[in-house]
Amino acid sequence: MDVHCSTCGEPWDVYHLRHDAVFDTDLSHEEAQAWGTLSPKARLGTRYREKFQAAEWEFGASILDVRHCPCCPKEARINSDKAAAKAALVEILGNDEDGIAAVFEDFGL
Ligand SMILES: [Zn+2]
Repeated sequence: MDVHCSTCGEPWDVYHLRHDAVFDTDLSHEEAQAWGTLSPKARLGTRYREKFQAAEWEFGASILDVRHCPCCPKEARINSDKAAAKAALVEILGNDEDGIAAVFEDFGL
C-alpha cells in the first residue's frame, strides 16, 4: 500500500515508512532498529522528529502522514487541504496504522 506526500505527491510504500525511512536519519543502526519497536507515539517523539527533519522527512501525528519528504522540490509548498484531511483522519483512526494506510489509499492521500 502507498500513501502520498502532502507536499509533492510522491507515493511512499507504507512498509518503507514504518521500517526503512528511519535508516535515512543519522541514528545508529542499533538505535534505528530499536525505533521500530517503539509505540507509534514514541516513534514521533521530539528527538526522532528532529532526526527525521534533518533527513528531509516531516510527519503529522502518524508516520504514515507524510507532510514533507526527501523528494520534495525546495520551493514546494504543502497542499493544506490534503494535509488537513489527513490530520483529521489520523485523529479518528489513532494508532491504527493499518486502518490509516487503507483509508489514505482509498482516498488517494
Ligand atoms: Zn514530498
